[in-house]
Amino acid sequence: MSFFKLNSVSKIYQQQWVVKEVSFTLSEGEIFGLLGESGSGKSTLLRIAAGLLDPDAGDVWLQGQKLRLASDQLIPGHPDIKIVHQDYNLSAPLTVRENINYALRYYEKTYRDERVDELLQLCQLESVAEHPAKSLSGGEKQRTAIARALAEEAKVLLLDEPFAHLDLPNRRRLTETIRELAEQTGIACIFVTHDANDALSLSTRMGILQHGNLIQLGTPEIIYHSPADAYVAELTGEINLLGADFLKNDVHSRLPDGRIAVRPEKLTLSFSPTIYGVESVVKRVVFEGSHYKIYLQAGHQLLKVYHHEVVPLGKSVFVDFRTF
Ligand code: ADP
Ligand code: MG
Repeated sequence: MSFFKLNSVSKIYQQQWVVKEVSFTLSEGEIFGLLGESGSGKSTLLRIAAGLLDPDAGDVWLQGQKLRLASDQLIPGHPDIKIVHQDYNLSAPLTVRENINYALRYYEKTYRDERVDELLQLCQLESVAEHPAKSLSGGEKQRTAIARALAEEAKVLLLDEPFAHLDLPNRRRLTETIRELAEQTGIACIFVTHDANDALSLSTRMGILQHGNLIQLGTPEIIYHSPADAYVAELTGEINLLGADFLKNDVHSRLPDGRIAVRPEKLTLSFSPTIYGVESVVKRVVFEGSHYKIYLQAGHQLLKVYHHEVVPLGKSVFVDFRTF
Protein backbone atom coordinates (compact mmCIF):
# COMPACT_ATOMS: atom_id res chain seq x y z
CA MET A 1 0.00 0.00 0.00
CA SER A 2 1.45 3.36 -0.96
CA PHE A 3 1.36 6.29 1.44
CA PHE A 4 -0.20 8.77 -0.98
CA LYS A 5 -1.41 7.97 -4.47
CA LEU A 6 -2.91 9.71 -7.47
CA ASN A 7 -4.68 7.16 -9.60
CA SER A 8 -5.38 8.08 -13.23
CA VAL A 9 -6.60 11.56 -12.31
CA SER A 10 -8.20 13.60 -15.11
CA LYS A 11 -9.80 17.02 -15.38
CA ILE A 12 -11.52 18.54 -18.39
CA TYR A 13 -12.39 22.22 -18.82
CA GLN A 14 -14.33 23.36 -21.90
CA GLN A 15 -13.82 20.01 -23.70
CA GLN A 16 -10.04 20.26 -23.15
CA TRP A 17 -7.95 17.90 -21.05
CA VAL A 18 -6.25 20.06 -18.42
CA VAL A 19 -5.02 16.98 -16.53
CA LYS A 20 -5.00 13.64 -18.33
CA GLU A 21 -4.79 10.27 -16.56
CA VAL A 22 -2.02 11.26 -14.19
CA SER A 23 -0.81 8.57 -11.77
CA PHE A 24 2.02 8.55 -9.27
CA THR A 25 2.68 7.50 -5.71
CA LEU A 26 4.61 8.95 -2.79
CA SER A 27 6.26 7.29 0.18
CA GLU A 28 6.51 8.84 3.63
CA GLY A 29 9.16 11.57 3.75
CA GLU A 30 9.35 11.77 -0.02
CA ILE A 31 9.62 15.12 -1.83
CA PHE A 32 8.04 14.99 -5.25
CA GLY A 33 8.62 17.88 -7.67
CA LEU A 34 6.18 18.42 -10.50
CA LEU A 35 7.84 20.43 -13.26
CA GLY A 36 5.85 22.05 -16.04
CA GLU A 37 5.41 25.26 -17.98
CA SER A 38 2.74 27.78 -17.07
CA GLY A 39 -0.69 26.40 -18.04
CA SER A 40 0.43 22.75 -17.99
CA GLY A 41 -2.12 21.90 -15.28
CA LYS A 42 0.08 21.98 -12.14
CA SER A 43 -2.23 24.01 -9.89
CA THR A 44 -5.28 22.06 -11.04
CA LEU A 45 -3.55 18.77 -10.24
CA LEU A 46 -2.45 20.05 -6.83
CA ARG A 47 -5.98 21.15 -5.91
CA ILE A 48 -7.31 17.73 -6.89
CA ALA A 49 -4.58 16.11 -4.74
CA ALA A 50 -5.69 18.31 -1.82
CA GLY A 51 -9.29 17.19 -2.19
CA LEU A 52 -10.33 20.78 -2.97
CA LEU A 53 -11.40 20.09 -6.56
CA ASP A 54 -13.25 17.07 -7.97
CA PRO A 55 -11.45 15.19 -10.73
CA ASP A 56 -13.61 14.17 -13.73
CA ALA A 57 -12.05 10.70 -13.51
CA GLY A 58 -9.61 8.90 -11.25
CA ASP A 59 -9.07 9.20 -7.52
CA VAL A 60 -6.66 10.15 -4.76
CA TRP A 61 -5.67 7.81 -1.92
CA LEU A 62 -4.07 8.49 1.47
CA GLN A 63 -2.88 5.44 3.43
CA GLY A 64 -5.28 3.12 1.62
CA GLN A 65 -8.29 5.40 2.03
CA LYS A 66 -9.91 7.04 -0.95
CA LEU A 67 -10.38 10.81 -0.54
CA ARG A 68 -13.99 11.95 -0.53
CA LEU A 69 -15.10 14.23 -3.34
CA ALA A 70 -14.86 17.94 -2.58
CA SER A 71 -18.46 18.38 -3.73
CA ASP A 72 -19.66 15.83 -1.15
CA GLN A 73 -18.32 17.83 1.77
CA LEU A 74 -19.41 20.89 3.64
CA ILE A 75 -15.79 22.01 3.94
CA PRO A 76 -13.74 20.57 1.06
CA GLY A 77 -10.29 19.16 1.71
CA HIS A 78 -8.75 16.57 3.99
CA PRO A 79 -7.51 17.23 7.55
CA ASP A 80 -4.20 15.44 6.90
CA ILE A 81 -3.45 17.17 3.58
CA LYS A 82 -2.34 20.81 3.69
CA ILE A 83 -1.82 23.09 0.72
CA VAL A 84 0.11 26.36 0.57
CA HIS A 85 -1.10 28.54 -2.28
CA GLN A 86 1.15 30.87 -4.19
CA ASP A 87 -0.12 34.07 -2.54
CA TYR A 88 0.60 32.98 1.12
CA ASN A 89 -2.60 34.58 2.43
CA LEU A 90 -1.11 35.74 5.75
CA SER A 91 -2.71 38.27 8.04
CA ALA A 92 -0.49 41.33 7.45
CA PRO A 93 -0.75 43.20 10.82
CA LEU A 94 -0.33 40.02 12.89
CA THR A 95 3.13 38.77 13.84
CA VAL A 96 4.59 35.52 12.57
CA ARG A 97 3.81 33.91 15.95
CA GLU A 98 0.22 35.18 15.87
CA ASN A 99 -0.32 33.96 12.32
CA ILE A 100 0.75 30.44 13.28
CA ASN A 101 -1.06 30.63 16.59
CA TYR A 102 -4.33 31.46 14.83
CA ALA A 103 -4.34 28.08 13.07
CA LEU A 104 -4.28 26.48 16.55
CA ARG A 105 -6.89 28.72 18.20
CA TYR A 106 -9.13 25.76 19.16
CA TYR A 107 -6.32 24.03 21.05
CA GLU A 108 -5.40 24.36 24.69
CA LYS A 109 -2.90 27.17 25.43
CA THR A 110 0.03 25.15 26.82
CA TYR A 111 -0.02 22.78 23.83
CA ARG A 112 -0.46 25.72 21.47
CA ASP A 113 2.57 27.63 22.82
CA GLU A 114 4.76 24.54 22.62
CA ARG A 115 3.62 23.72 19.11
CA VAL A 116 4.19 27.27 17.84
CA ASP A 117 7.75 27.28 19.27
CA GLU A 118 8.40 23.93 17.60
CA LEU A 119 7.18 25.23 14.24
CA LEU A 120 9.15 28.49 14.53
CA GLN A 121 12.28 26.40 15.01
CA LEU A 122 11.44 23.87 12.28
CA CYS A 123 10.78 26.62 9.73
CA GLN A 124 13.74 28.79 10.80
CA LEU A 125 11.52 31.67 11.93
CA GLU A 126 12.66 32.23 15.51
CA SER A 127 14.45 35.52 14.78
CA VAL A 128 11.36 37.07 13.18
CA ALA A 129 8.70 35.51 15.42
CA GLU A 130 7.55 38.87 16.81
CA HIS A 131 7.69 40.76 13.50
CA PRO A 132 4.44 41.64 11.72
CA ALA A 133 3.84 39.57 8.57
CA LYS A 134 3.79 42.70 6.41
CA SER A 135 7.45 43.44 7.24
CA LEU A 136 8.77 40.00 6.21
CA SER A 137 10.86 39.11 3.18
CA GLY A 138 9.34 36.82 0.55
CA GLY A 139 11.19 33.82 1.94
CA GLU A 140 10.07 34.51 5.50
CA LYS A 141 6.46 34.90 4.33
CA GLN A 142 6.65 31.61 2.48
CA ARG A 143 8.10 29.82 5.54
CA THR A 144 5.41 31.38 7.77
CA ALA A 145 2.71 30.12 5.40
CA ILE A 146 4.24 26.64 5.56
CA ALA A 147 4.50 26.75 9.36
CA ARG A 148 0.86 27.79 9.58
CA ALA A 149 -0.20 25.00 7.18
CA LEU A 150 1.67 22.52 9.37
CA ALA A 151 0.32 23.85 12.69
CA GLU A 152 -2.12 20.97 12.88
CA GLU A 153 -0.10 17.88 12.16
CA ALA A 154 -0.36 16.86 8.53
CA LYS A 155 0.70 13.82 6.51
CA VAL A 156 0.92 15.45 3.10
CA LEU A 157 2.10 18.98 2.27
CA LEU A 158 1.32 20.48 -1.13
CA LEU A 159 3.20 23.59 -2.25
CA ASP A 160 2.16 25.62 -5.28
CA GLU A 161 5.20 27.38 -6.78
CA PRO A 162 6.90 27.86 -3.38
CA PHE A 163 9.98 29.47 -4.93
CA ALA A 164 8.24 31.77 -7.38
CA HIS A 165 8.94 35.09 -5.67
CA LEU A 166 12.17 34.23 -3.87
CA ASP A 167 15.73 35.38 -4.47
CA LEU A 168 18.60 32.89 -4.39
CA PRO A 169 19.46 33.00 -0.64
CA ASN A 170 15.77 32.59 0.27
CA ARG A 171 15.37 29.73 -2.20
CA ARG A 172 18.27 27.93 -0.51
CA ARG A 173 16.76 28.55 2.93
CA LEU A 174 13.37 27.23 1.86
CA THR A 175 14.91 24.18 0.18
CA GLU A 176 16.67 23.38 3.47
CA THR A 177 13.46 23.88 5.45
CA ILE A 178 11.44 21.54 3.22
CA ARG A 179 14.15 18.88 3.34
CA GLU A 180 14.37 19.07 7.13
CA LEU A 181 10.59 18.90 7.44
CA ALA A 182 10.41 15.76 5.36
CA GLU A 183 13.30 14.14 7.25
CA GLN A 184 12.16 15.08 10.73
CA THR A 185 8.40 14.58 10.42
CA GLY A 186 8.10 12.00 7.61
CA ILE A 187 5.63 14.26 5.84
CA ALA A 188 5.25 13.59 2.12
CA CYS A 189 5.57 16.71 0.01
CA ILE A 190 4.55 17.60 -3.53
CA PHE A 191 5.74 20.93 -4.87
CA VAL A 192 5.01 22.29 -8.31
CA THR A 193 7.40 24.56 -10.15
CA HIS A 194 8.28 25.86 -13.59
CA ASP A 195 11.97 26.04 -12.61
CA ALA A 196 14.08 23.02 -13.55
CA ASN A 197 16.84 23.76 -11.04
CA ASP A 198 14.40 23.79 -8.12
CA ALA A 199 12.83 20.52 -9.26
CA LEU A 200 16.19 18.82 -9.86
CA SER A 201 17.81 19.95 -6.61
CA LEU A 202 14.99 19.29 -4.15
CA SER A 203 13.03 16.29 -5.44
CA THR A 204 13.62 12.72 -4.37
CA ARG A 205 11.57 11.85 -7.46
CA MET A 206 10.02 14.18 -9.99
CA GLY A 207 7.54 14.28 -12.85
CA ILE A 208 7.25 16.34 -16.02
CA LEU A 209 3.83 17.72 -16.88
CA GLN A 210 3.14 18.81 -20.47
CA HIS A 211 -0.39 19.86 -21.47
CA GLY A 212 -1.78 17.88 -18.53
CA ASN A 213 0.14 14.71 -19.42
CA LEU A 214 2.74 13.27 -17.08
CA ILE A 215 5.30 12.53 -19.77
CA GLN A 216 8.18 11.34 -17.59
CA LEU A 217 8.57 10.19 -14.02
CA GLY A 218 11.82 9.34 -12.25
CA THR A 219 14.70 10.48 -10.09
CA PRO A 220 16.22 13.86 -11.00
CA GLU A 221 19.34 12.04 -12.26
CA ILE A 222 17.38 9.79 -14.63
CA ILE A 223 15.33 12.68 -15.99
CA TYR A 224 18.38 14.92 -16.42
CA HIS A 225 20.63 12.31 -18.03
CA SER A 226 18.03 10.25 -19.91
CA PRO A 227 15.23 12.63 -20.90
CA ALA A 228 12.28 10.91 -22.57
CA ASP A 229 12.28 13.32 -25.51
CA ALA A 230 13.63 16.64 -26.78
CA TYR A 231 10.98 18.59 -24.83
CA VAL A 232 12.09 17.12 -21.48
CA ALA A 233 15.75 17.54 -22.45
CA GLU A 234 15.29 21.27 -23.12
CA LEU A 235 13.00 21.89 -20.14
CA THR A 236 15.51 20.43 -17.67
CA GLY A 237 18.65 22.30 -18.71
CA GLU A 238 21.11 23.23 -21.42
CA ILE A 239 21.28 20.55 -24.07
CA ASN A 240 22.96 19.76 -27.38
CA LEU A 241 20.52 18.07 -29.73
CA LEU A 242 22.71 16.37 -32.29
CA GLY A 243 21.42 15.44 -35.72
CA ALA A 244 20.81 11.72 -36.23
CA ASP A 245 23.97 11.28 -38.33
CA PHE A 246 26.28 13.67 -36.46
CA LEU A 247 27.90 11.01 -34.27
CA LYS A 248 29.16 7.83 -35.90
CA ASN A 249 29.33 5.73 -32.76
CA ASP A 250 26.18 5.05 -30.80
CA VAL A 251 27.38 5.24 -27.23
CA HIS A 252 24.87 7.95 -26.37
CA SER A 253 21.23 6.96 -26.22
CA ARG A 254 18.95 8.35 -28.87
CA LEU A 255 15.73 10.27 -28.44
CA PRO A 256 12.56 8.91 -30.08
CA ASP A 257 13.16 11.31 -33.02
CA GLY A 258 16.60 9.79 -33.69
CA ARG A 259 18.60 12.73 -32.35
CA ILE A 260 21.13 12.41 -29.55
CA ALA A 261 20.82 14.62 -26.46
CA VAL A 262 24.12 15.53 -24.78
CA ARG A 263 24.52 18.00 -21.90
CA PRO A 264 27.26 20.66 -22.39
CA GLU A 265 29.23 19.32 -19.40
CA LYS A 266 29.60 15.99 -21.21
CA LEU A 267 31.67 17.66 -23.92
CA THR A 268 35.36 18.43 -23.56
CA LEU A 269 37.36 20.93 -25.52
CA SER A 270 41.01 20.59 -26.70
CA PHE A 271 43.24 22.89 -28.68
CA SER A 272 45.11 20.12 -30.52
CA PRO A 273 43.55 17.26 -32.49
CA THR A 274 42.35 14.20 -30.55
CA ILE A 275 41.54 10.74 -31.98
CA TYR A 276 37.77 11.22 -32.12
CA GLY A 277 37.68 14.99 -31.64
CA VAL A 278 35.27 16.90 -33.88
CA GLU A 279 36.86 20.02 -35.34
CA SER A 280 34.88 23.18 -34.68
CA VAL A 281 35.14 26.96 -34.55
CA VAL A 282 34.42 29.20 -31.52
CA LYS A 283 31.40 31.41 -32.30
CA ARG A 284 30.47 32.96 -28.97
CA VAL A 285 31.70 32.93 -25.36
CA VAL A 286 29.47 33.62 -22.34
CA PHE A 287 30.74 33.89 -18.75
CA GLU A 288 28.37 32.02 -16.40
CA GLY A 289 30.20 32.13 -13.07
CA SER A 290 31.49 28.60 -12.52
CA HIS A 291 32.44 28.21 -16.20
CA TYR A 292 32.38 29.76 -19.64
CA LYS A 293 29.72 28.58 -22.06
CA ILE A 294 31.33 28.26 -25.46
CA TYR A 295 29.21 28.12 -28.62
CA LEU A 296 30.89 26.18 -31.40
CA GLN A 297 30.13 25.55 -35.04
CA ALA A 298 30.96 22.00 -36.15
CA GLY A 299 29.90 21.71 -39.79
CA HIS A 300 26.16 22.31 -39.76
CA GLN A 301 25.88 21.52 -36.07
CA LEU A 302 25.94 24.21 -33.37
CA LEU A 303 27.38 22.93 -30.06
CA LYS A 304 27.45 24.28 -26.50
CA VAL A 305 30.39 23.31 -24.29
CA TYR A 306 31.37 24.35 -20.75
CA HIS A 307 35.03 25.27 -20.33
CA HIS A 308 37.03 26.56 -17.34
CA GLU A 309 38.75 29.40 -19.17
CA VAL A 310 37.96 31.93 -21.84
CA VAL A 311 38.62 30.92 -25.47
CA PRO A 312 39.25 33.41 -28.32
CA LEU A 313 36.50 33.88 -30.91
CA GLY A 314 37.19 32.25 -34.28
CA LYS A 315 39.69 29.78 -32.84
CA SER A 316 39.67 26.19 -34.14
CA VAL A 317 39.17 23.61 -31.38
CA PHE A 318 38.38 19.91 -31.01
CA VAL A 319 35.42 18.53 -29.16
CA ASP A 320 35.22 15.12 -27.56
CA PHE A 321 32.09 13.44 -26.25
CA ARG A 322 32.51 11.91 -22.84
CA THR A 323 30.68 8.65 -22.37
CA PHE A 324 30.54 8.79 -18.56
P1 ADP B 1 -0.48 25.84 -14.15
O1 ADP B 1 -0.67 25.87 -12.68
O2 ADP B 1 0.46 24.76 -14.60
O3 ADP B 1 -0.06 27.16 -14.71
P2 ADP B 1 -3.37 25.51 -14.24
O4 ADP B 1 -3.67 24.22 -13.58
O5 ADP B 1 -3.60 26.75 -13.47
O6 ADP B 1 -1.88 25.46 -14.82
O7 ADP B 1 -4.22 25.61 -15.57
C1 ADP B 1 -4.15 24.67 -16.60
C2 ADP B 1 -5.11 25.04 -17.71
O8 ADP B 1 -6.45 24.92 -17.26
C3 ADP B 1 -4.95 26.47 -18.21
O9 ADP B 1 -5.10 26.48 -19.61
C4 ADP B 1 -6.10 27.19 -17.53
O10 ADP B 1 -6.53 28.28 -18.28
C5 ADP B 1 -7.17 26.11 -17.43
N1 ADP B 1 -8.05 26.27 -16.27
C6 ADP B 1 -7.68 26.24 -14.98
N2 ADP B 1 -8.74 26.41 -14.16
C7 ADP B 1 -9.81 26.58 -14.96
C8 ADP B 1 -11.22 26.79 -14.72
N3 ADP B 1 -11.72 26.88 -13.49
N4 ADP B 1 -12.02 26.89 -15.81
C9 ADP B 1 -11.53 26.80 -17.05
N5 ADP B 1 -10.24 26.59 -17.34
C10 ADP B 1 -9.39 26.48 -16.33
MG1 MG C 1 -0.27 27.39 -11.28
